[in-house]
Amino acid sequence: MLQLVFIETFYRMKKWFQRILFYVVAPGFLSCNQGNTEDYQLVIVNASLLNVKTGVIEKNKSVFIKNGLINKISKTRNSDYSLKNVINAKERLLTPSFIDVHNHLNFIFGDTTEITNPEDFQISRGLLTEEYMPYGVTVVRSAAGRESHIPMERSWMKHHPDYIDYYPSGGALVSLNTQFYNHVYVRDSLEVKSKIEEYSKSGIKHIKVYSLIGEAELNTAIRTAENLDMNIFGHIENAMVSIETACELGLRNFEHVKTLFLDVVKKYETTSMDLSGLPPDDDENWRFREYEVFNFIGTNDPSIMALIMLLKKSKASVTPTLHLYAQPIGLTHPATKIEIHPDDKLNWQGEKLNRAKMGYEVLAALVLKLYKNGIILNTGSDTYEPGKTILSEMLLLNKLGIPMNEVLKIASLNSARSINLEKSYGSIEVGKKAHLILFEESPLNNPLNLLSKKTIIKDGIVWRPL
Ligand SMILES: [Zn+2]
Repeated sequence: MLQLVFIETFYRMKKWFQRILFYVVAPGFLSCNQGNTEDYQLVIVNASLLNVKTGVIEKNKSVFIKNGLINKISKTRNSDYSLKNVINAKERLLTPSFIDVHNHLNFIFGDTTEITNPEDFQISRGLLTEEYMPYGVTVVRSAAGRESHIPMERSWMKHHPDYIDYYPSGGALVSLNTQFYNHVYVRDSLEVKSKIEEYSKSGIKHIKVYSLIGEAELNTAIRTAENLDMNIFGHIENAMVSIETACELGLRNFEHVKTLFLDVVKKYETTSMDLSGLPPDDDENWRFREYEVFNFIGTNDPSIMALIMLLKKSKASVTPTLHLYAQPIGLTHPATKIEIHPDDKLNWQGEKLNRAKMGYEVLAALVLKLYKNGIILNTGSDTYEPGKTILSEMLLLNKLGIPMNEVLKIASLNSARSINLEKSYGSIEVGKKAHLILFEESPLNNPLNLLSKKTIIKDGIVWRPL
């Protein structure tokens, strides 16, 4: 655990520095007046509140918070200003916080690190939180991880205002022994059932399936998850099971818009269609091949259209993960300041880079088509620096033509709905958790303000680095 000891030392030093900064900068921010009868944990007054359900900005609102929950919302009265624990929003934009529906812990702790010593659980939780909270992401759902991390993930399930709310999913179920650390091999339907029951008993409420699962096993997974009231989602691209089959069996939450193209091209492999123009599907070429598949299929292909209609009819959700395809070819906004990981440095140039950029435009056009057809989109990172990535993803969604108030809804309410947690998160409503963002500058005026200074409120407490 030498690696973690080193990380911890760095982390502690950083925290002390941030703490000193906070005490120097923060006084005066919270005005704590005295002599009032009503006791709220926090009251935000004169806020321009984004109602994500209507897309409307409700001006001059007060949000009253008690026990971490939104207790009351009303028009701001003069007397509100003299309550205890007041933040005067001064007409700034108040939105629900953001959600990442697609995290993998290996992007934070490394592909080989296994954290099994309970003494390290809290340090790791702090590190994970630092990756998200400064960017306004307060809720994170795992999209599969190592089984050896389940004890740690379970310890994080007891929520705490200082840390992000984390929802584990165990390993991704596969019925082919891939030996990949984020996969769990389940031989047959019996094993599928007992694995999901085991997860359920340990408190896990989210089940991930990967395309390398057989149809019978997938059917069992969906039925078992339904019976245990668990949320099931999958990365399906016709490796062993197609999106059409998965949808017909009852899967409703799909990862990566790119899978629609890959699903269709795999279907064409079994027909007489000439696919010889595509790069080979091998270790060296698979990444470039994906962009070329987007170019090859396009957004008007009848099979793609049929999938869109099926997803629409099924009220399915899809996670775009556009950033994953934009970043390696230089299409993300530099202001997001996300370092490109060595694995994503593709160094493509000239015609190859142009072809990839064309491919990205096709992928983005399909995301817009899904949006226009009313398919629920949500935000998932699936990479390094996940908090920053969520903001980058939101900028990319806006860039392709989705209005910013809708993008804010995608990152909050839609994402909460997709992970079956709409009761607690996703909008500023009485009874929901007080997970809020107060923007210094409104992203509705300029999308880049998404990156501007923001006050993050989690469980009714202004979050600051520990
Ligand atoms: Zn993933």
